[in-house]
Amino acid sequence: KRILMTGGTGFIGSRLVSGWLAEGHEVSVLTRRPQRVIERWGGRVTGVSDLYQLTGPFDWLINLAGEGIADQRWTAARKRELRDSRIGVTGKLAEWAMHTGQRFDVVASGSAIGVYGALAGTAEQQTVDEASRVGQDFAAQLCTDWEAAAQPLYGLSERSLMLRTGVVLGERGGMLGRLWLPFSLGLGGRIGNGEQYLSWIHIDDYIAALNALLVSDAVGVFNMVAPEPVTNTRFTHELAHCLGRPALLPMPAAVVRLLFGEMADLLLKGQRVLPARLLERTFAYHYATLPEALESIRQVWASS
Ligand code: NDP
Repeated sequence: KRILMTGGTGFIGSRLVSGWLAEGHEVSVLTRRPQRVIERWGGRVTGVSDLYQLTGPFDWLINLAGEGIADQRWTAARKRELRDSRIGVTGKLAEWAMHTGQRFDVVASGSAIGVYGALAGTAEQQTVDEASRVGQDFAAQLCTDWEAAAQPLYGLSERSLMLRTGVVLGERGGMLGRLWLPFSLGLGGRIGNGEQYLSWIHIDDYIAALNALLVSDAVGVFNMVAPEPVTNTRFTHELAHCLGRPALLPMPAAVVRLLFGEMADLLLKGQRVLPARLLERTFAYHYATLPEALESIRQVWASS
């Protein structure tokens, strides 16, 4: 296949690109730094910072570009970057595709489980699936607008997939990339009351699920999460246990609010997201439970 990807240099995207190369696909990546594409894959991937350098045609368009939602405090300037790197990039993609007359077999465009809004309360109150209503807070609005920006692209495609991605767990990147060191030092701990759910997925399962969807007849929204979301208390316990360290330093809600401002909701609230549509399609997870996922990541990390 000829594949065009945004976000191809990121934690998730670079794994996807390397996998596709190994399978003999032809990959082009939109990036702000084409040099990084050359450093990583030599001439085997085309890296461009301007879509109009691409001629196409492409079979698949995978749109995952987006600045890290939890990387910095949500100042007005940062909020703009978060929106521009998703809604802006997606809008430009659509403009380019229409202008140059592109048609795709499949368009898969990013969103995140934050679309359901930051929820609190009992497990039941936090439970959502693809049929649930979207939320109202900043992250939910960001995801809703991101999904809406992709609509014109879906119009240019035989099949469309909307990927509501959960917290992707893998070595050297994403959320675990940041928690690994403090937890390895025994400095981890529960956040707030610990009852907020974390809906996670192992990066290998994310990639396998996406690749399966790409070659199937699937259309529409998919929650890209494992079938067993966990509370923050359970996550903290499992990660500390996996690393053989205690997790004795809980972070009270007031401190989280002071440190993170509006972004604190990402940490103090959550969503118990069920992958109803992947389960309907009987997708076979390699890592259906958190201890299995963490142990596999620990082993890769230890051996690399
Ligand atoms: P990374 O932070 O590792 O990478 C971000 C990617 O987005 C990079 O490839 C970067 O390309 C690209 N990007 C950012 N801004 C722009 C821009 N203005 N123009 C073009 N490209 C841009 O992200 P992840 O791999 O972790 O995540 C990929 C997507 O999935 C993101 O949109 C993220 O929000 C979403 N997601 C991720 C989750 C996770 O747990 N990792 C959870 C839920 C959603 P470059 O720097 O080369 O320009």
